[in-house]
Amino acid sequence: MNTVTDPDLFDLEHAALAEATLVFEDAHAPAGIYRLALGELIGHYERLLRETDRLIRRSDRQEREMTVLNQRLQALARSLEYRARHDTLTGVLNRGAVIELSGEMLAGSDMALIVLDLDHFKRINDTYGHPAGDMVLQTVVGHLQSVVPQTGEIGRVGGEEFTVMLPRTTLDDALAIAERMRAAVAAHVFPAPIERNITASFGVSWNDVGTPFENAYGRADEALYIAKRNGRDQVVRARN
Ligand code: GH3
Ligand code: MG
Ligand code: MG
Repeated sequence: MNTVTDPDLFDLEHAALAEATLVFEDAHAPAGIYRLALGELIGHYERLLRETDRLIRRSDRQEREMTVLNQRLQALARSLEYRARHDTLTGVLNRGAVIELSGEMLAGSDMALIVLDLDHFKRINDTYGHPAGDMVLQTVVGHLQSVVPQTGEIGRVGGEEFTVMLPRTTLDDALAIAERMRAAVAAHVFPAPIERNITASFGVSWNDVGTPFENAYGRADEALYIAKRNGRDQVVRARN
């Protein structure tokens, strides 16, 4: 079997060096021979410099390309991580991220949890179409964001159902925040073709450190259900 090997990049230089060494070791070689060997050596040395120069430039270029690729890869990883945790329509945390973050928050401190759901939202979709409904959801999130404190986090846990996580917040403060959110949503008159306001109902639970998320969420959801039953557009506190 034939084995094909790459020719050594410096084969010619090795041969020229061996030739020059032979001449150098012969103390009595005529001057013409020395000159010839030196000329050969100069030629090869020049080629060696050109080749080295080319290789260095190529390696610099590859390093720059590698840096660009690496930056793109890091940006892509950041964007994938962001998308895995956020709702594409509204930009707030998605359901998975809410469950994960609430669990982490509750493991370290007490937390108030607000659960809210838009009132009669199905009618909006049915009357004005799904894109109008989407626009309503985005606007409502804008109102929630204008009220939520720096330490709070908003998430979308269902179609038109959101949560607000408020670590280290008293029940009274959380109820006041929920009330401000309710008022902000209810005060907004949507542009044509809707041309009216849309309300939301709220349930609020206060949870001691160590409370499981399911419990915190379940009680807030029960309170939300009561708010719906009592006529909607209101905030109800959960049982302790
Ligand atoms: P209630 O006051 O009892 O909450 O009534 P509702 O009509 O809001 O409740 P229901 O659960 O019957 O309807 C929720 C609607 O939300 C149904 C669904 O079409 C709509 N929905 C869910 N996800 C989206 C979404 O991403 N975009 C839009 N436009 N609508 C959505
Ligand atoms: Mg609803
Ligand atoms: Mg709902």
